Order: sequence, then C-alpha cells, then structure tokens
Amino acid sequence: MRDTPELSAFRSQIRSFVREQLPADIGQTVREGRQVSRGRMQAWHTILAKHGLLVPHWQAQWGGQGFSVAQQMVFDEEMALGDAPELNSITFDMIGPVLQRYGSAQQQQRFLPAIASGQQWWCQGYSEPNAGSDLASLSTRAERVDDHYRVTGSKIWTSYAQYADWMFCLVRTDRQARPQQGISFLLIDMKSAGITVRPIVGIHGWAVFNEVFLDQVEVPASLRIGEENQGWTIAKSLLEFERLKLARIGENKRRRARALAVAHSRREGGQPLADRPWFRERFAELDCRLMALEANAGRFIERAQAGEPIGAEVSMLKLRGSRLIQLWEELIVDALGPEALPLNDAWLLSQTGADTQDLIAGTASSRRFLARGFTIAGGSSEIQHNILAKQVLAL
Ligand SMILES: Cc1cc2nc3c(=O)[nH]c(=O)nc-3n(C[C@H](O)[C@H](O)[C@H](O)COP(=O)(O)OP(=O)(O)OC[C@H]3O[C@@H](n4cnc5c(N)ncnc54)[C@H](O)[C@@H]3O)c2cc1C
Repeated sequence: MRDTPELSAFRSQIRSFVREQLPADIGQTVREGRQVSRGRMQAWHTILAKHGLLVPHWQAQWGGQGFSVAQQMVFDEEMALGDAPELNSITFDMIGPVLQRYGSAQQQQRFLPAIASGQQWWCQGYSEPNAGSDLASLSTRAERVDDHYRVTGSKIWTSYAQYADWMFCLVRTDRQARPQQGISFLLIDMKSAGITVRPIVGIHGWAVFNEVFLDQVEVPASLRIGEENQGWTIAKSLLEFERLKLARIGENKRRRARALAVAHSRREGGQPLADRPWFRERFAELDCRLMALEANAGRFIERAQAGEPIGAEVSMLKLRGSRLIQLWEELIVDALGPEALPLNDAWLLSQTGADTQDLIAGTASSRRFLARGFTIAGGSSEIQHNILAKQVLAL
C-alpha cells in the first residue's frame, strides 16, 4: 500500500525519532541478532514512554495516542528498520487492550499506568502440556475459597515468564461444564507463593520458553477479569487485537535488510554474493512474496480503517508472514554457509584466522531456529489452514 502524504510525513517523523533516540548499544545488539537484556530493554521502554510512543495505539485516556491501524503498521516497520528491538506484544498488544475492554475500573487503575510506563512485564499462561491447539482442554484448576482462588496445575511454553512480573492465565473453574464454558481468566502475581518457573533452553540456545508450575497459588477473586467461567470469550478476543500485526511486515523487512547486508559483505566464486545468480533468484522470490504480503495487508488495513469487519480470511496474513520470516532466515544461513555455525566456533576461527566471528554470522543459526516457532505460536499453520478452509472457503 502506498503511503498517503500524511502517512509519509508520519513515517519520516518515526524514522528520525528512532535514529535519534535509540541507544547505540541496543541498535548494535539488535543488528547482530542478539538478545537484548531486560535492563537495556527497560531503558528503551523508558525512552519510548517519555515520548508517548510505548503504547501509541492505546486510547489517550491510558497514555496512548490512538494511532490508526495504518500508523501502527508504519510505526512497527520503522522501528524494525531502525534496528529497534521488537516490543513484547504480550504486554502491550494483549493484556493492555484486554484490560481496557474487559477490566474493572479498579483493575484498569491498578495495571494500565504501570504497563504504559514500561515498568511492568507480563507473560501469557495459556498452553499446557496437553493443551495447545486444543486449548479448551486445559486442566489447570482454580478452586474458589472465600474471596480468592487456589490455583494448581502447570503451564508450558510461557515466553519470558522468567522476567515477568505478572501472568494472565486461563484456569478451569468448572469441571462439569462443556470445556469452553468452565474457563476463567485470572491475573497472577509471579511473586506469589507456590509458583516455580523453570526456563527451557531451546535448540537456538536462548531461554525463551518456560514451564510454570502452580501449587496451591492464592489469587484474589478481584483479579479475575470478567465473570467466572466466561474466560474463553476474553481469551479469544485477545487474539483479535493483534491479527493485523501478525503479517509481521516490519519483522520481514528487518530480515530482508540483514540478507542484503550479508550479500553485500561477502564474496563467492570471486564475485560479490549479491551478484550470484542463485542468491539473486532466491532473494527476488522472497521480495515478491513480501510485496504480495504487504499488498494483502494493505487491503485489510483499509477495511479496518473504514470500520469494516476484517473476517477470518485475515488468517492468511499470519500464515504467509510467519513462513516468510523463516524463508529469509534460511536464505541468510545458506548465504553464510559454514560461517553460520554457532558463535565463536573454535574450528571456524582456526580456519579463518579471525579473532572473533562476525556477529551476524554467529547468531544466524540461532535466529533461524528461533524463527521455526513463528509458524507454531499464536495458532499453528495447520490451524490457520483449517480456519481458512472452514470459515472462508466453507469446505
Ligand atoms: C515461539 C513460541 C512462543 C510461545 N509462547 C507462548 C506463550 O507465551 N504462552 C502460551 O501459553 N503458549 C505459548 N506458546 C505455545 C503455543 O501456543 C503452542 O505451541 C501452540 O498453540 C501449539 O500447541 P502445541 O505445542 O501443544 O502443539 P499441538 O497442538 O499438540 O500440535 C502438534 C501438531 O499438530 C498439529 N495440529 C494440532 N491440531 C490440529 C488440527 N486440528 N488439525 C491439523 N493439525 C493440527 C499442529 O499444527 C502441530 O503441527 C508458544 C509457542 C511458540 C512456538
């Protein structure tokens, strides 16, 4: 979608902001594909919050600027292209909007200012060892005792739970009802007695995921969002808030830029890699896919801007956007060849005589494996295909 003159001016403004305000060390870490520490991420949150740009898509009442859908997309894109780290969508795009729509006045006052200031981090306790795609079969149970719940069970794949202050969690409050009807939505303080967080180190070497064990954890009933046993509706609506973002166009463009940086800094067969036919062919194919994704996302943005329903077909954005990120990461690894072996690999360094490995190369394999999760998280590709088949094509 072409920018309107207003959107183009807005884009320049965001671009300048990132260039001027993003701390150099954070930009460098992101450019090299490494993980930004919680402390540095916190510092970036503080800068964004000071300029009203941490939650610009929220309503003004809660510290936002009421950005339009198109502005949000441009904002995300410019942040990615300027090497800013991706913000935690669980905190800013999921629980924040849920609190705004379904939270009590007391819950809103308690949590929204803390989130908007960038100080409070959240994680999402939905999946369990036997409940992923089939989330309604979750079995973590919450028993009502006077004015609180006692929660027992376990969650898994909980991203960044080791850093989170709070977790929003789906629990079973009625074991007799139909699966979707016996679920409630609780806010749980991660410092509560009875919570154990065990990080899971993935094949990429990063501890993104965790297991979270809950053993008779006491949660005040005032921290339930919505009515008891009505949590499923809230759980599902949460996905709506970020459906357009799932095309991840900014994140795709970030990878495109990295692929280009690799191609321009390396040679193969006496030629710059960027001139090699195999690279050019693969790059062109992915670039076309990216243009198609952007054009498709543009159609949905126009509909959303006009206040029209965007429908189940928006699943195609998640399907295409997440796969395309994987294809960029694969291209980067293939372009680097043996250089993409893990960081500071002793054999590699002995071959090249270098002291340290180029950091983009050193993290390329990790990033490729990290991207593997994108077609699983937030509803796997198979589930997106099912949605499109049933709800759009009526098959
Ligand atoms: C990067 C990442 C981050 C995550 N972060 C979080 C988080 O913060 N909080 C959280 O709660 N969870 C999180 N998850 C978990 C995620 O929600 C689940 O992995 C996902 O819902 C799939 O569930 P599962 O792993 O149990 O796989 P399963 O549901 O067991 O699926 C296994 C395979 O079967 C396929 N399958 C399942 N059902 C069907 C069907 N009906 N038709 C066709 N194929 C089917 C799936 O596509 C998949 O290939 C994260 C996952 C990843 C990868």
